Amino acid sequence: MPTETFEFQVEARQLLQMMIHSIYSNKDVFLRELISNASDALDKLRIEALRDDALGADVSDLHIALDADKEARTLTVRDNGIGMSHDDVVRLIGTIARSGTAEFLEQLKEAKAAGAAEGLIGQFGVGFYSSFMVADEVTLVTRRAGEDKGTRWTSTGEGTYTVETLDEAPQGTAITLRLKPEDAEDQLFDYTAPWKIKEIVKRYSDFITWPIRMVTGEQENAEKKEGEEGGEAAEPETLNSRKALWARSRDEVSDAEYHELYKHISHDWADPLEIIQVRAEGTFEYQALLFLPSHPPRDLFAQDSKRGVQLYVKRVLIMEDCEALIPEYLRFVKGVVDAADLSLNVSREILQQDRQIQLMHRRLAKKVLATIREMKSARPDNYAAFWREFGHVVKEGLLGDFDNRDAILAVASFASTHDPEKPTTLAEYVERMKEGQKHIHYMTGESRAAIENSPHMEAFREKGVEVLILTDPVDEVWVGAVPPFDGKELRSIAKGEADLDSGDEAEEAKAEREQRREEYAGLLTWMAERLGDDVKEVRLSSRLTVSPACVVSDAGDVTPALQAMYRAMGQ
Ligand code: ADP
Ligand code: MG
Repeated sequence: MPTETFEFQVEARQLLQMMIHSIYSNKDVFLRELISNASDALDKLRIEALRDDALGADVSDLHIALDADKEARTLTVRDNGIGMSHDDVVRLIGTIARSGTAEFLEQLKEAKAAGAAEGLIGQFGVGFYSSFMVADEVTLVTRRAGEDKGTRWTSTGEGTYTVETLDEAPQGTAITLRLKPEDAEDQLFDYTAPWKIKEIVKRYSDFITWPIRMVTGEQENAEKKEGEEGGEAAEPETLNSRKALWARSRDEVSDAEYHELYKHISHDWADPLEIIQVRAEGTFEYQALLFLPSHPPRDLFAQDSKRGVQLYVKRVLIMEDCEALIPEYLRFVKGVVDAADLSLNVSREILQQDRQIQLMHRRLAKKVLATIREMKSARPDNYAAFWREFGHVVKEGLLGDFDNRDAILAVASFASTHDPEKPTTLAEYVERMKEGQKHIHYMTGESRAAIENSPHMEAFREKGVEVLILTDPVDEVWVGAVPPFDGKELRSIAKGEADLDSGDEAEEAKAEREQRREEYAGLLTWMAERLGDDVKEVRLSSRLTVSPACVVSDAGDVTPALQAMYRAMGQ
């Protein structure tokens, strides 16, 4: 088989250049990335083997092995997981398959200037490329489980890579790094030293469920007891404790450990905002560890975005993105659910129907909403950041999750005319309502400015009546769907008659309005005739103080903003 040479895709080349010239201040994370990939590959093999008896893969001793060679200055990370086919290698390793790379590079340039570049990597799946921070040549040998031929990929990261088919290769993937000679004298970058590797594994990968093994004794023992047991092959040591964090109690686990687990499962680079632990005991036992991210993933609104949490059964991962466990409006929640009693061999379709899954789904949704509520009172800054990033997604729940509608309304906050800086909850709005005010007033629109400049706002501003300013597309839809909050109906100020007046004042105003209506009857009829089918009705308004006229819709009508939204959705 000839060796083929390929060029890296342009974006990949740019990223590699950044790796080679190491924009990370912390190079140690390359090992975390390689272990994370190896762990994913083992998970995938396990899951595939569960589904496909005929796969013909060896799943008897799944593990990760680290091999350091001090003399040759190489480090190898090996797994006997799913592996990659020839095409997988070219597709996954030679290109950055994910969308948004150009945007990433753009952001990276900015972040670099601000000294925050480190944080951006990983989010875009440049994990494997981080090897080039520490290596001047990387060789990957892999064989996909169930296939006969293997593939070798090699590159120095400078523009091209070579790919070669091998007649034989062990199942899984081995990645060998030839460590940079310029780091040879620096203890900090001695990635062949067992103590160094142990420390990195402990720090970043302790929770990985697969054993991470390394022969560590050799060098240390050789120094201490000169060749006492010389010649014998040293036993590998398992470096990680493999303890499932969700099975341990909260005070036993440090935040740093939780954060590493979160980063591993979410492929996010930033720490999560909240950690949520759930334990159910009794007839149907399960444990869950959920995370609220601090910023949305890129694919939050993509059709094919990965959503859902990892589903384990008794410590064994059986599904990576289990949508059935979390409602769609909480799709940004990441984490792990470990059930004690579920069939290992379930399909996604069956899961949707499973009663236990449904029970977990309900409980987890309630728990997440309760956490948001708790965050709102105990950690208002976190809550504010959360709601800014995810509020428009959570509000989708008002449309479908009738069970939790009140809970969602209770944690929601909205921009309002009361304080341009600070969003308000409905409860706070109701507390500020004027004597005799019956409704919660809102206006939907494209932007705060558009709403504030609307003629509909005039009378409300004049009278000092607070109006909620709703600018998310989803606001158009849910406002019409929710029941009254605390007995107060939500009313659009752009629909129907503005009902600003109340009590005695209202009686007077009514009489006055009647009188005026008579006075202006001629004008109104004339206008209605001139405007013909363009309008339903022409009526006198008490809502304007400055503008001479404005267009309003009926209470049940589709608003202009909603019309625009439907148009955008191609309807
Ligand atoms: P990410 O892990 O975020 O997808 P990486 O750059 O770390 O991005 O890896 C790119 C892809 O290469 C992975 O998604 C996976 O498909 C493949 N890959 C990397 N390492 C391995 C491995 N050890 N075994 C199998 N596939 C791997
Ligand atoms: Mg990765």
